Amino acid sequence: MTTMMLSCVDCRAEYTATLRYACEECGGILEVVHAGGPPSDAAALVAPEVTLGEGGTPLLRARAGSAEGAIWIKDETRNPSGSFKDRLVSAALTTALGFGSKGLVCASSGNAGASAAAYAARAGIPAVILVPEQTPAEKMAQIAAYGALLVRVAGHYSNSYAMALAVAEETGFVNVTTTFINPYGTDALRLVGHEIHAQLGETAPDWVIVPTGSGPLVKGVVQGFADRGGRTPKIVAVQAEGCAPIVKAFDEGAAEVQPWGEPKTIASGISDPLIGYARDGTYTLRLVRESGGRAIAVSDDEIIQAMKVLAAGNGIFAEPTGASSLAAAQKLMARGEIRPGERVVCMVTGHGFKQFAIYRQMPVHEIRVEADAPATVITGALREITGPGALH
Ligand SMILES: *Cc1c(COP(=O)(O)O)cnc(C)c1O
Ligand SMILES: [Zn+2]
Repeated sequence: MTTMMLSCVDCRAEYTATLRYACEECGGILEVVHAGGPPSDAAALVAPEVTLGEGGTPLLRARAGSAEGAIWIKDETRNPSGSFKDRLVSAALTTALGFGSKGLVCASSGNAGASAAAYAARAGIPAVILVPEQTPAEKMAQIAAYGALLVRVAGHYSNSYAMALAVAEETGFVNVTTTFINPYGTDALRLVGHEIHAQLGETAPDWVIVPTGSGPLVKGVVQGFADRGGRTPKIVAVQAEGCAPIVKAFDEGAAEVQPWGEPKTIASGISDPLIGYARDGTYTLRLVRESGGRAIAVSDDEIIQAMKVLAAGNGIFAEPTGASSLAAAQKLMARGEIRPGERVVCMVTGHGFKQFAIYRQMPVHEIRVEADAPATVITGALREITGPGALH
């Protein structure tokens, strides 16, 4: 820990590495700067002492949904609590315990809270998790199961965000909210870029498509590839049509992201209106532009379509937010913006168990039979799926 500093991404003010959430000079986002230059491997980052085995996720070649190109899926559903937030929380908490924190606070649209609650349980410390009252029931059940104090805050995510600041102040607990607040947490996301680079045989793909709320994952991917040297991929920040502040600014050519009014989408993991921290969105927009990529919005219907392709066509069970990357890939391929033969990595960021109620609403192949029904009833239904000739 002595080998790192904190630096403001805007005014470049530098600070010794302590628990600090924003630049004192300008209020800007802080990032970790490693003495001795960019880290070339995980060993240079915070070694997670509070760990549940996060990270090191597979990169899978997509079977279906990629007729016009080469799509890989970075399967972050495999993390211990079911989303990539585990990478961030394990590092943020490890560092905070080193600084003497006795508990944690986290504002969340569900996944960061589940992750924070899991790692607090692992560390044996109390957790206060603040979520919007409309958070999917599965995510709230998971948070509560880990023994955290679950606080449902009226209104959307930005209210939970503001309340977490106050609770952290009042309790002295570390704030592991997974916006750009905690520089040690966001720094751990560099490993995502490192892993993809290694998994593609020490090369970069042409595109990495990232479901985006406030943007720490975008930064992690960008930094990871930069650390490895060579070409960096074009980044696509995906948002839902019902909550797309970064896409709106991108499309308008604006320099600054404005907060979004009322989020309305099934993609709960990215329903982040940025009220009170639009600065995070502005920074993420800058990173996306610098990469030569773009921001794009997808509809809930396009997301549901991509969920089906991931599950039934690839064996990957993702929550709506996780599938939004594939929805964006398909859209950009159809428009010719991703050209045939280009290599595309879709970040599939969260597990289907997180919102499985959505799957129960989808049409599926399902029949009910009596206990003494002949097998021909079932083979009849099976032929409707396979067509004739698949059975002996
Ligand atoms: C938090 C989250 C995101 C968005 O990540 P940011 O780093 O906030 O942009 C994407 N997908 C899932 C499943 C998430 O939980
Ligand atoms: Zn500053």
